[in-house]
Amino acid sequence: MIFTKTFKYRLCPTSSQRSLCAQFAGACRWVYNRALDQRNTLWTNEKKTISRFSQSNELVFLKKEEETSWLKGIHSQILQQALIDLQRALDHFFRRVKNQEVPGYPKFRCKGANESFRYPQGVSAQGKKIYLPKIGWVKFKKSREIEGNIQQVTVRQEGNNWMVCVTCELEKPDPLVEFKSVLGIDLGIEHFATLATETGIEEIDNRRFLTKDLKKLKYLSRRLSKKAKRGQNRLKARIKLNRWHAQIRAKRADFLHKLSTLLVKSHDVIVVESLQIRALLVSASKYLARAISDMGWRSFLEMLKYKCREYGKKLEAVGQYFPSTKQCFSCLKRNDIPLHQREYSCSCGFKIHRDHNAALNLRAAGMSVLKLVELPR
Ligand SMILES: [Zn+2]
Repeated sequence: MIFTKTFKYRLCPTSSQRSLCAQFAGACRWVYNRALDQRNTLWTNEKKTISRFSQSNELVFLKKEEETSWLKGIHSQILQQALIDLQRALDHFFRRVKNQEVPGYPKFRCKGANESFRYPQGVSAQGKKIYLPKIGWVKFKKSREIEGNIQQVTVRQEGNNWMVCVTCELEKPDPLVEFKSVLGIDLGIEHFATLATETGIEEIDNRRFLTKDLKKLKYLSRRLSKKAKRGQNRLKARIKLNRWHAQIRAKRADFLHKLSTLLVKSHDVIVVESLQIRALLVSASKYLARAISDMGWRSFLEMLKYKCREYGKKLEAVGQYFPSTKQCFSCLKRNDIPLHQREYSCSCGFKIHRDHNAALNLRAAGMSVLKLVELPR
């Protein structure tokens, strides 16, 4: 079984390497934005599209022109990669339109916000150094070994740091797992997750970061908005906000990693609800809280997905038509309960917290998968 895994490290670049990173990321942003603008303009004016290949061919001409000759100094593969990233973003957009989901048209990249560039090949690692084409050997904080063959590498600025994400292809023998233990997970705002296991219900608290983080986010964003546009203080406030974002992300990722590893190791079948439905369930007034939780849910599901693959466990995402919230776990009758109502009560006399009911229903859905597995041969 071949699967991919991403290893993330903090780079320790020299000051000249640091400025090369910034330069490369800036060039990718420029190419990406130019290509997006070109597509937008062409579509608005002439209802025409342009392919990634012709945009990529244009790069050759741009390098020859005096005004844009600075592009010659940039590793050409990472510029190509920026165009591939744009293509991918557009493909996702069109897929979502087709599926009648929230489309989310690609945005222009802004300076200073998650600047990044990506190498499709040519990167190698040795000891505590990683070779980035046209930048050279860069030291990194090696928190763990890189396993497998390096496929692609993204260099990204997070707050004050440059991080490197190394995606590798690994081969592991197909693990033989007998599916025994089933876990239902309901993701929410009140609790990050409600877990239904064979021993009962467990709630994973969200508040410890959500409330506190939300306060500080509001404070820092307010400070940023009060600073004069294009001023030095505004830039400082933005850097502060970005640095804080990076810290929170790291803290949160750590929590999610620990939780997802624990869950995947201790259960064989994990059932979750796919995310679009979640999005619809939450009222707009909780937009900010939602945005933050949403970030967590998304990466949490991503983690569950690849960790299940790695450990040979099964992850089931139930679809749009599964009534995990509405259905009574006890008698299977469907009741409409309004969003603000935290207690689920059914005419059959069954009363329970609504998230507990949902988690139990998800687990029950997993049990039916289990039955399929256990059918006599
Ligand atoms: Zn009932």
